[in-house]
Amino acid sequence: MKTQSALNTYIKETGGWVASQLEACTRCGICADACHFYQALGNPEYAPVWKLEPLRRAYEQRFTVAGKLKLALGLEKKLTDSDLEHWSKIVYEACTVCDKCAFVCPMGIELGLLIHEVRTGLAASGVVPGDLAEATEKQKTLGSPLGVTDEMWRERIDWITDEWEEKIPVDKPGAETLVVFTSIELMKFPDNLAAIAKILNKASENWTTSSTGREVVNFGFFEADEELTKLFMYRVFKAAEDLGVKRIVISECGHAYEAFRWTAPNIMKVPKGIEIIHITELIHQLWKNGRIKIKEGAFDDGVITFHDSCKIQRLGGLIKQPREVLKVLAPKNFKEMTPNKEQAMCCGGGGGVISIKEAEANRYAVFEMKMEQMQDIKAEAVCMVCSNCRLQFVDSLAHFNSTIKVHSLAELVSKALV
Ligand code: SF4
Ligand code: SF4
Repeated sequence: MKTQSALNTYIKETGGWVASQLEACTRCGICADACHFYQALGNPEYAPVWKLEPLRRAYEQRFTVAGKLKLALGLEKKLTDSDLEHWSKIVYEACTVCDKCAFVCPMGIELGLLIHEVRTGLAASGVVPGDLAEATEKQKTLGSPLGVTDEMWRERIDWITDEWEEKIPVDKPGAETLVVFTSIELMKFPDNLAAIAKILNKASENWTTSSTGREVVNFGFFEADEELTKLFMYRVFKAAEDLGVKRIVISECGHAYEAFRWTAPNIMKVPKGIEIIHITELIHQLWKNGRIKIKEGAFDDGVITFHDSCKIQRLGGLIKQPREVLKVLAPKNFKEMTPNKEQAMCCGGGGGVISIKEAEANRYAVFEMKMEQMQDIKAEAVCMVCSNCRLQFVDSLAHFNSTIKVHSLAELVSKALV
């Protein structure tokens, strides 16, 4: 039964585009060396191309002569429920959908999108890791994957307003900019939320938050359940339309940035005339336009490096913006890790991985490589623009007893405002 749901999904999805992608693969294996899970753990099943196997089998066995022959001769088996359980562990617990593999593939195969398709089949069959499914359910019923209810959200916003003495408008009529935060910022990094508020207030930005479109993270997108992905984005789009804002600012979540910028227009009706940008772009614009001033050299706490988030930098292209700001904040102490920018290695916590307890060992193994990259340049601090990455850094650095400090760009800028 589970297998049938997955197969139906795969067969439905294997139209022209998926088929052409699967046929183009030469099995060269170059993508394997780009995958941090494969590099860190050496498990051949973590090779990106192997993660596509359920999709490939469904497609070949249904549509190609070779696939039908392999099946008839017993060279290949049909997918079973236990195969699905097995691949669920591979594609949810050992893949952050970071797309580094696609970046290096000489055939231009969009591995990240195809792995998302594999997840779609698994989600349709209900073969999703329990922790991930639980967080998705909380987002569906309570409005937040961390279980933050409307009441809790209000209380937390009031508390941050009082504690940091920074105005955080809610449902402000006539606002032009709607900022949508993550529950991670709200509950675990309230300093980041306060920092963003401080920057926007200093710039006299006409901004607001929304009590109904209050969660930017999208666990439907992590699971690859299209209906839930749309529902979670619809809540934000509806709030933006009701408020009549001109733009939606995605706060610190890389996957949310991908979902709103690139996925939404392909799967749902998006409101016309509303710009969607990431908070990094907004901070950079405010500084470039002279609406905020940043004190040069304000960061004075040793060597600092920048962690490129897969969806914001590699996919989103926001590579120069944070660097230009960091070079003002720490002109003498900013150093790049290797690899960096588009080629940077994922932190290991994205794509929902950090929410899955059983993926912990994978996540730490990957992070150890990231930590070595920071140690190689003797970094004493690291800056980033995604709160999901930040959670992975804070948790993993503590796990490895590292003293490297973790900062968000907004937090550093807010402390350096002239
Ligand atoms: S790098 Fe591209 S062509 Fe080579 S195995 Fe991976 S997906 Fe296939
Ligand atoms: S998307 Fe990233 S984590 Fe997933 S297989 Fe490709 S390189 Fe590995």
